[in-house]
Amino acid sequence: MRFAILGAGMAGILSAIKLRAAGYDDFTVYEKADRVGGTWRENTYPGLACDVPSHLYSYAFEPNPDWSHRFSPGPEILAYFQGVADRHGVTPRVRFGAEVVRAEFTDGRWRLATKDGQRDEVDVVIAATGVLHHPKLPDIEGLDRFAGACFHSARWDHSVKLDGARIGIVGTGSTAVQIVSAIVDRVARLSLFQRTAQWIMPQENPAYSDAERAGFRADPDSMRRAYAEIADLFHAFSTGLVDADSPQMQMIETACRANLEQNVRDPVLREKLRPTYRAACKRLVMSPNFYDAIQRPNAEVVTEGIERVEPEGVRTRDGRLHALDVLVLATGFRVDRFVRPIEVVGRDGKRLDDVWSARPSAYLSISIPGFPNFFLLNGPNGPVGNFSLIEVAELQLGYVLGLVEELRSGRCREISPSEETTTRFEAERTEAARHTIWGSGCRSWYLDDRGVPMSWPWTFDRFREEMSAPKLEAFERR
Ligand SMILES: Cc1cc2nc3c(=O)[nH]c(=O)nc-3n(C[C@H](O)[C@H](O)[C@H](O)COP(=O)(O)OP(=O)(O)OC[C@H]3O[C@@H](n4cnc5c(N)ncnc54)[C@H](O)[C@@H]3O)c2cc1C
Repeated sequence: MRFAILGAGMAGILSAIKLRAAGYDDFTVYEKADRVGGTWRENTYPGLACDVPSHLYSYAFEPNPDWSHRFSPGPEILAYFQGVADRHGVTPRVRFGAEVVRAEFTDGRWRLATKDGQRDEVDVVIAATGVLHHPKLPDIEGLDRFAGACFHSARWDHSVKLDGARIGIVGTGSTAVQIVSAIVDRVARLSLFQRTAQWIMPQENPAYSDAERAGFRADPDSMRRAYAEIADLFHAFSTGLVDADSPQMQMIETACRANLEQNVRDPVLREKLRPTYRAACKRLVMSPNFYDAIQRPNAEVVTEGIERVEPEGVRTRDGRLHALDVLVLATGFRVDRFVRPIEVVGRDGKRLDDVWSARPSAYLSISIPGFPNFFLLNGPNGPVGNFSLIEVAELQLGYVLGLVEELRSGRCREISPSEETTTRFEAERTEAARHTIWGSGCRSWYLDDRGVPMSWPWTFDRFREEMSAPKLEAFERR
């Protein structure tokens, strides 16, 4: 069987390694960029770090004794992925600069086309094209007329001087919080344009000492224990998220509230920074020092809405002009894209764009009726809320390999979930999602156009159990 893996980020690298380990060596990884790494190649903004502990944000088969911090910085994470890809012989299997633009299922095989005219025919497609990948730009009048430098946080322009400059940041998510803390002491003025205040979980980020790292190196079991302990903690957290009144949620809320009350001195600023919704309703922001940073004399939280951008800066609705040299758009990603804009055409000319015209969905986020032998990693409505997406992708890939085994054994040549199963799954998921913390009354990127959280609404244990082996009765096999 021949495979195509689309994307050489964390999930694409994982797919190549696991396919080979399972005995499938005929595959090509298509990557539109010139290096592996996905998210960690694209995001280079100051302060970038993971917000899942590094020992959990690692492949289970590649623990890393050398993580520098509990939440290690972005460049270290990129180096980790590049190192894994090199050590496992993935890099030479990647066709770089090859953007897949079309995948069509005809006569039992997927026919792929790249932007530069390459063609391929494969039996199985693994789409590892990312979820936080297509930058979302805000719809603000005059953005294109700004005279200074303006860029999205995922397209950081390192040629732009920050020292002594007047910086505006639009957005208050994890990225904006990381940037503020990293640059506030370098810049002349920092204006944070806030539409929604965020709860901030006071999360310390200690460095691992040389002795600790040497200990991990000498005793890999201790590292595995560290992984297991953190994983247990995170999975307990997930149970909290799906039950908005759980003790875990109460603990998180208490910690966030105390952080705000105790660490923001000025009562006016404290009220500006106080969210009006429950902690963890939006993606929980973790930071040891955001409140310190935003209370520096050169920093300001601007809560007045943005009227427009002018050549000199941002004009807010109260008529005030915030003069700026640099405007950073930390406004997140289009989270409804997944494998798109690739034109995916399934059996009998069925187009993915039509199937997903209302909103994207997939059976267990992996597989779509009418699109046989086409599998998504980190696809629609998966467990995205403050988990290690590596752990998620590893479990999903195990499931995909279970489906591929049906093809390999000759028991069938085409496999995709039935319409009926998928519709039922989606109805149950939607109903459960409404009762999670993400559906408890806030505006966030977790919500679809109906306001339903686009997420796995059950516990992580249930996810793991579901991923342990495909229930074949849910699938149509031909
Ligand atoms: C700032 C930031 C911080 C994050 N922090 C965390 C964290 O702490 N913990 C966590 O679990 N997750 C975090 N994430 C989520 C992160 O995206 C995932 O953890 C993970 O990196 C996703 O890997 P991926 O391989 O699925 O997708 P990506 O890393 O997005 O990789 C997709 C790859 O596919 C390629 N591609 C896309 N379309 C095509 C095409 N048509 N043809 C060819 N190639 C294509 C892209 O160029 C890219 O290299 C963070 C995301 C961001 C943006």
